[in-house]
Amino acid sequence: MRELVVLGTSSQVPTRTRNHNGYFLSWDGEGILFDPGDGTQRQMSLAGVSASDITRICVTHFHGDHCLGLPGVIQRISLDNAPHPVTAHFPASGREFYDRLRNASVFYDAADIRPDPIADDGFIATSPKWSLEARRLDHGIDTYGYRLVEADGRRMVPELLRQHGVSGPAVGSLQRDGVVTVDGRAVTIEAVSVPRPGQRFAFVMDTRLCEGVFALAAGADLLVIESTYLDVDAGLAAAHGHLTAGQAARVAAECGVRTLVLTHFSQRYDDPTRFAEEAAKAFDGEVVVAEDLTRVRVPARRP
Ligand SMILES: [Zn+2]
Repeated sequence: MRELVVLGTSSQVPTRTRNHNGYFLSWDGEGILFDPGDGTQRQMSLAGVSASDITRICVTHFHGDHCLGLPGVIQRISLDNAPHPVTAHFPASGREFYDRLRNASVFYDAADIRPDPIADDGFIATSPKWSLEARRLDHGIDTYGYRLVEADGRRMVPELLRQHGVSGPAVGSLQRDGVVTVDGRAVTIEAVSVPRPGQRFAFVMDTRLCEGVFALAAGADLLVIESTYLDVDAGLAAAHGHLTAGQAARVAAECGVRTLVLTHFSQRYDDPTRFAEEAAKAFDGEVVVAEDLTRVRVPARRP
């Protein structure tokens, strides 16, 4: 199952209705916690996300709304005896902040947290099925966005399988080996399948528009992106290194995004529908104005 669980949606300070940032991506066996702000441990309880579900932590930058939840989450991983290591990715220049947050108070430390500081653009983790990539953003302090890209595969076409006489266990052999022999004839996987593009998830937090934003969002099935401001306050957004809902939507439109999740809202706005309205002017895909505890499925693969 591939699903995003939104744990918090507020920039800078939590409000009565919005916790600091926090996002949990469930992707097959992986559980990636992005930017745990203050209060993330409790938000996880409310959302039904367990500390043992976390296999990886990705921090975009070391402003408090993106990292102050680390001590609680790490101590909870320890308390719950998570049975696996957890890799923590973060900007290398913030190592001193990571080290403090990792060891913020006295606790019985049984957590196997493996720091993996990022010093440049590129792949930070790969498996045969996916790759996780970081790209530099533009926010005044070192900030990296992330994207998870599933490897492209092939989809079997029942009609073609029938035509080539492939059925039963031979289908499994074909998927494993790329070729199977049927009645003395070799049948290749290309003959009975069509390309199946892998799914893409992108996570873009505090930044002005920059090359990294577009590189991360390219072809994303699900894009989580900050929209701290509305276009009316575009000057403030530029000054403080943030995006508007209109800019985020224009990125989504230009990059062929399917589902756009807006978040990280300034507390200056009291009506979240304004973000949806502004985004809809530029982007005709699905727009989710995130609330705390919103769950968003990664859309089904492109046909
Ligand atoms: Zn922020």
